[in-house]
Amino acid sequence: MRLTVLGSGGIKPTLDRAGSAYLVSAQGRHILLDAGPGALRWLLRTGVTTADLDGVCITHRHPDHCCELILLIELEDAMGRKAPLGLAGPAILDDYLTFFARWGRTESAPPPYPIERAVLPGDLEWSPFGISGRSVPHVENCVGFRIEVDGKTLVYPGDCGPSDVVVDMARGADMLVLECTLPEGVDHHGHLNSEQAAQIAERAGVGKLVLSHFSPNVDVDQAVAICRKRGIDALAAEDGLVVEV
Ligand SMILES: [Zn+2]
Ligand SMILES: [Zn+2]
Repeated sequence: MRLTVLGSGGIKPTLDRAGSAYLVSAQGRHILLDAGPGALRWLLRTGVTTADLDGVCITHRHPDHCCELILLIELEDAMGRKAPLGLAGPAILDDYLTFFARWGRTESAPPPYPIERAVLPGDLEWSPFGISGRSVPHVENCVGFRIEVDGKTLVYPGDCGPSDVVVDMARGADMLVLECTLPEGVDHHGHLNSEQAAQIAERAGVGKLVLSHFSPNVDVDQAVAICRKRGIDALAAEDGLVVEV
């Protein structure tokens, strides 16, 4: 299983970090985790097209995680897609799609290809990806993803604060992608600084920690150093980073 970071930033745009989006690939199949601003543009650089995507997993309704979902759905319509597109995420996502259908697609809603909706939390199988969606504390209706392929496990909770729930869902994972929204020493409900991310990774006993979702005021090198000081195999996400799980 391979993780490609398409967007390692948060809600504040920067020139070098797009919004939250990750491409997960295995056995020639591809899924997106979140579809924040810049996701589809970054996807172009990977050689994987939107037509190659089997599904999209959205963690929550904040636009830095889902604003290009509508763009993707519309684009696939324009490109004449016939294959189904999986869409996994919390129930509140349906409000977003309904809004889109009402205001954005006056001609031919719903799209002419099937959208296979999976309302999570819950488990689903998008072969070869075994996906478990768990409720995550951030705002209401957030779902984090634990993805397993061939005995390897990738966990992406999306935005989250310090939580036993996140530790549980990440337990023993080969790779954990955690947000590092906050500068060191800053505590804010629903988000993590590097020390808090390190504590989660340490308690969960993960193989590798990828810090991501950086605000512009986070010292990224310092964040990684704080995690490594605890003996955690940590690295910083950057747009275009490719790592094998
Ligand atoms: Zn976010
Ligand atoms: Zn958020």
